[in-house]
Amino acid sequence: MKPALIVHGGAWDVPDEAVEACNAGCGNALAAGWSVLASGGSALEAVEASIITLEDDPVFDAGYGSHLNRDGQVECDAMVMDGATLRAGAAAGLHRLKNPIRLARKILEQCPHMMLIAEGAERFAKDSGLALCKPEELVSEAEWQAYLRCSKDEHAAVHHRGHEQGTVGAVALDAQGRLFAATSTGGTCCKLPGRVGDSPLIGCGCYADSQAGGVSCTGYGEAIMKIVMAKTAVDFLRRDSPSGEHKPSAAQQAADGAVKLLAERGKGSGGLILLDRSGTPAFAFNTPRMACGYVNPDSNFVVSV
Ligand code: ASP
Repeated sequence: MKPALIVHGGAWDVPDEAVEACNAGCGNALAAGWSVLASGGSALEAVEASIITLEDDPVFDAGYGSHLNRDGQVECDAMVMDGATLRAGAAAGLHRLKNPIRLARKILEQCPHMMLIAEGAERFAKDSGLALCKPEELVSEAEWQAYLRCSKDEHAAVHHRGHEQGTVGAVALDAQGRLFAATSTGGTCCKLPGRVGDSPLIGCGCYADSQAGGVSCTGYGEAIMKIVMAKTAVDFLRRDSPSGEHKPSAAQQAADGAVKLLAERGKGSGGLILLDRSGTPAFAFNTPRMACGYVNPDSNFVVSV
């Protein structure tokens, strides 16, 4: 099977001056994930490698450089899902994990449960050998300044360089046919402490089923949850490309259909990336821009904001 990889850095109002950084960030995430897949590695390793790269890049809203909540703290959520078993590892309300996706993977592989939150999640992280950082180590200067501007005035996109959202995600298919999807976020800016969005919720911000495809979402979480967007897109794939048939056009139709539903029924904005079960990539969004990238059939990287 030919491996496939698609990544995103969020659907938002990317200002012109951030386009280059978003393109570079998506390119770096593709390079990290593709080096795993091209050398015969697993899709799980690949999505983790891509997401770590995106979490470490302060231009995106995940890990270091995440948006701050109303207490001025980073509070992260992440999830990874295995398309073969339908098992997920998800974590929410994290203050002390530099790379929340590493914890999501530990939960997937080592925990009897599929989702842990807050202090219990961080205790599990420590017990499974992950290093905890100080909460302030996740705060970038740009987000701190944005937080101060919002605190003095009121929460507004203009205080965040138009950067309302910017979750990261990756979906990979490896040579053995294993399909994994992953999503990681700092959530929406100036959110209430304790707020959890779509990203770590199975079927909302992320879903993978090897019989249909894998999806990672971004955008206004409260709207994405209403239409269970990731699972909805996977259901569209299953409906439009039943087993035994492969219609590459079904991938784009599923992406477009889910984003249309987000606007019409969820009354919200956002986007998604997906791979169908054969590795056909597609993405769609109804925000001004979305940062994303995929590997084309000639193994070249295509990035677009
Ligand atoms: N979906 C994320 C959330 O609501 C935000 C984003 O995608 O940027 O937490």
